[in-house]
Amino acid sequence: MATTVSTNIDANAAQFVAQTRKMLINGKWMAAASGKTFPTYNPATGEVLAMVAEGDKEDIDRAVAAARKAFENDSPWRRMTASERGRLIWKLGDLIDKHTEELATLESLDNGKPLTVARAADVPLAAELFRYMAGWTTKLEGNTIPLSVPYTPGARYHAYTLREPVGVVGQIIPWNFPLLMAAWKLGPALAAGCTIVLKPAEQTPLSALRLAELIMEAGFPDGVVNVVPGYGETAGAALAAHPDVDKIAFTGSTEVGKMIVKAAAGNLKKVTLELGGKSPNVIMKDADLEIAIPGAASAIFFNHGQCCCAGSRLYVDAAIYDKVVEGVSEQAKKIKVGPGLDPATQLGPLVSDEQLRRVCGYLESGFSEGAKAAAGGHKVGDKGYFVEPTVMVNTKQNMKIVQEEIFGPVVTAIPYKNVEELLPAANDTVYGLAAGIWTTNINKAHSLAAELRAGTVWINCYNIFDAALPFGGYKQSGWGREMGHEALELYTETKAVCARYA
Ligand code: NAP
Ligand code: MG
Repeated sequence: MATTVSTNIDANAAQFVAQTRKMLINGKWMAAASGKTFPTYNPATGEVLAMVAEGDKEDIDRAVAAARKAFENDSPWRRMTASERGRLIWKLGDLIDKHTEELATLESLDNGKPLTVARAADVPLAAELFRYMAGWTTKLEGNTIPLSVPYTPGARYHAYTLREPVGVVGQIIPWNFPLLMAAWKLGPALAAGCTIVLKPAEQTPLSALRLAELIMEAGFPDGVVNVVPGYGETAGAALAAHPDVDKIAFTGSTEVGKMIVKAAAGNLKKVTLELGGKSPNVIMKDADLEIAIPGAASAIFFNHGQCCCAGSRLYVDAAIYDKVVEGVSEQAKKIKVGPGLDPATQLGPLVSDEQLRRVCGYLESGFSEGAKAAAGGHKVGDKGYFVEPTVMVNTKQNMKIVQEEIFGPVVTAIPYKNVEELLPAANDTVYGLAAGIWTTNINKAHSLAAELRAGTVWINCYNIFDAALPFGGYKQSGWGREMGHEALELYTETKAVCARYA
């Protein structure tokens, strides 16, 4: 269980990883029913970072039972007013802020991302998400509905809708933004009044477990949020198939997303999915290259390319292609690769040995199909899971590296002659999560934005997230939206009430 974390880090985070972490069920911290534990690794070193209780079916059953009990009509959670619920969620946002350094350190240690990034992005965005959702608790209104039932003396009708929480929700999240993904999932579910069983990714369970402590500290009633760490094939699958779960919300690979849909069919639980992407990022001839070149680099290299919306296919007008490739490659070569805890680091290790092998496999596949690296192209060093920021050229639309989600710091750059050639290529993957457009011509920007089959289109910017802005995918990138008021709709049921009056 030893950890080699230096003493030079946030003391609370160091203490957190020094103990075997338990799971939260019904407000109590427990070992797994099986007594099993599993390791989570520090991807900068490949060494064990902490040991964590390994939940499986039995723990999921217990957690779902606790969530069901917390959802009963007369439970403290259900009796709470909308305003009280909102204040609790707001308080959680403030507690996250208060523990920024500790949460950011845990995130950096467990996931590998730069501490500076976790501190500036992951943690404040998570806090802000809860505060945004807190405001919605008092605004989940239904409608009054004018009916057209033919008039009969003595029978008129008054009809209205209620927005009610969907019930017990299972949430399964990935490892790329462990805390933020927990916030995206928990925030709207809590605002709607649901109860939750959350399963964090096996690679990065720590920040969700620390968040669960803050949830209890904020004062949420027992059983409202249960966190069961464990493996996807066991704990995750049990949650997705559970007959007493009303909705499952999943973020991860499209492949596992399809398994979730099948598992959910047993009791026809509601399903929302936020899946993979292979997002086109288009630089037009008239783009301001001063912003487009660094923008294109950060669109792919942010979070080491481990973003479902990463701008991984760069389409550049042929007239400026060489200049852009040179510019983005220069940016790639300048990026400081290193351990997340080093303040100078801009790009940390990939999350796991498995991801390292996966990304290197894609690089080899690209080279074997004739692609070349204008920058990067290799793994870095022997310790930890580092890959160079890579710009692939000589690529063709049908290559695996252009069609499949690599989930690493690898962009493919492809020239295009005109919009007629660009559009079909940009839309030609099974995904439809995001897209970027760089141009100084507002007409071209909006016309292309309308034609791209993507849930988010960024114009002259990329990776801008806001709790109020819905996020989700077209095509095989998912079902439903996260954030914004649309997320709340997906955690509520609409009840139509129709009353006769004289
Ligand atoms: P993944 O397998 O889809 O994992 C996402 C979550 O689903 C994790 O919590 C995982 O658990 C769980 N899970 C796995 N199998 C499950 C099952 N049969 N039933 C229920 N839950 C299950 O993703 P990954 O293996 O970490 O990464 C593989 C690829 O997925 C990446 O290379 C990338 O292309 C894509 N990905 C996309 C996103 C995104 O945000 N869209 C995020 C991560 C990965 P455990 O990890 O604990 O086993
Ligand atoms: Mg880890």
